[in-house]
Parts: sequence; C-alpha cells; structure tokens
Amino acid sequence: MNRLLVSVKWLSLAAWCVALVAHVWVLLHWPVPSAVVQHLHRVQVGMTAGIFVVWWPTAWVAQRMTERHGGRAGQGVVQFSWSEALQGCPPWMRNTAYGLFIYTFINFFVSFGMGLTGAGTGDALGRMRMFSGLWLLFYGLAFAMMYSTLRTPSLIGQRSCSAGHAVRRGDNFCGQCGQPMPPQ
Ligand SMILES: [Zn+2]
Repeated sequence: MNRLLVSVKWLSLAAWCVALVAHVWVLLHWPVPSAVVQHLHRVQVGMTAGIFVVWWPTAWVAQRMTERHGGRAGQGVVQFSWSEALQGCPPWMRNTAYGLFIYTFINFFVSFGMGLTGAGTGDALGRMRMFSGLWLLFYGLAFAMMYSTLRTPSLIGQRSCSAGHAVRRGDNFCGQCGQPMPPQ
C-alpha cells in the first residue's frame, strides 16, 4: 500500500517539474526547439493522461479520509476538507497548494482569452499555457496529498506510532522505530 503511495508521490513530483518547465517556458515566450514541437501533441496527451494515473490513487486516499471522518461523526454527508487532507504537509507546501488553486483558475481564463481553437502559433501557446497550468495544479495536489498521507497515516485510518510511521494491523511494535504499540 505505502509503496504505491510513494511511487505516486514521486511520479507526481516528476510530472510537476515537467509541467513547471513547460509553463515557465511558455510564459517567457522562449523559442520552442523544433524537436519538441514535433512531439508537442504527444507530450500534451501523455501529461494529461498521467493525471488520471496519479489521481486514481489520490481519489482513493481522499475517499478514505472522508470515510474516516464520516464514521466517527456518524453523519450521512461529510465534506472533504483540503486543510484536513493536507495536515501532514509543512505550511509552505499547503500554502503553495492553495496558491496553485488560485493561480490555475486565473491562468485558465487568461489563456482561454488568448484563443484556443485556431492552428496558429498564438493558439498553440495559449493551449500549452492552459494545459501546463492544469498539470501544475493536478500533479501538485496529488503530490501534496501523498506527502501528507505518508507523513500522517492516521489520516486514512492507518495505525501509526507517535513518530508517524505506519504500523501494520496486529503488530505490537513499530517496524521502523521499535516503539511499542497499545493493544488493539
Ligand atoms: Zn515508529
């Protein structure tokens, strides 16, 4: 389980870095090498498809977080809260995530205004700007969710020692630091 979350975390971070480079590149109007232009469509499709790959486990984690709260409160409708979900992140990471929300929203409309339907260079740039902004948000959030969950396994109802290590059900000691666990 944790292995999957760790892989998703690093995959999201890698994709986020690609998105950041692409986004800054477009914003600064740097010339795009022709080799990249040839594969631009493939890159766009690949990066967009990758969002679904990392968001499948991310949505599962979000579901577990909501269920856990729902179970405790015993109420039917429980809202997912980003501030709770990102509890395990350092404040700067949480704030960056909120900033990305706002930025992507603004960027979406600004790049939409640049015209997206034509085949011209301006349209291609606008599209790239919009897409890379969305990638930044989705990969960034997936990374932050995984980071938070791995640091605070209790968020998804996993047992953890006081240092935050995940402890398997039925184990009497933490496998990482040896701390004794209270009986279940
Ligand atoms: Zn431990």
